[in-house]
Amino acid sequence: MTDERTRKLEELVREFLLLIGEDPNREGLKETPARVARMWLEELSAGYREDPTAHLKIFTASDAGLKNGIVVVRDIPVRSICEHHLLPFFGYAHIAYVPDGRILGFSKFARIVGTFAKRLQVQERLTRQVADFLYDELKPKGLMVLIDAVHTCALVRGIEEPMYLTTTEVRGIFKKDEPLRREALTLLQQGSTVGLWRNQG
Ligand SMILES: [Zn+2]
Repeated sequence: MTDERTRKLEELVREFLLLIGEDPNREGLKETPARVARMWLEELSAGYREDPTAHLKIFTASDAGLKNGIVVVRDIPVRSICEHHLLPFFGYAHIAYVPDGRILGFSKFARIVGTFAKRLQVQERLTRQVADFLYDELKPKGLMVLIDAVHTCALVRGIEEPMYLTTTEVRGIFKKDEPLRREALTLLQQGSTVGLWRNQG
């Protein structure tokens, strides 16, 4: 089944190359259809065949969480494909939540973002899907998801569209508690930890 799908996709890529005025048989393009088909099925669209609940490793021990604080996970890589142009957009997701006796292993956030990102997306929906999923499954008191990304569809086609896009989704206590929301937003927008660490080295 997968082989059949890969073969069909390879044919389509070859056809695509022809239609844009290329010669799919020339040396440099010979391996391209197979490479592109594999890349799309195994990586870029793998999220359609992944279940995000597989990445839920929730700790519920009563002494595991915070008493009254915010957990912030920053610099989660986002690599996705814009559904309008089939070109990549990439950047970082930053997530803040107020736990309600349940915390998620922090490496799992990247897996969950990845599952939704490895599908055709618009950044707004990606942000919403991550927020909905985490709010429903982790059941925190409050949740905020912020994604910052560069859109290569705007980058390669000129300047008619903004290249950088920031999107946020807010759930629970963050909607009502303005000071708490501001605190979370400040934490989310702090400079990259990786960058700070590098600068100190
Ligand atoms: Zn686009």
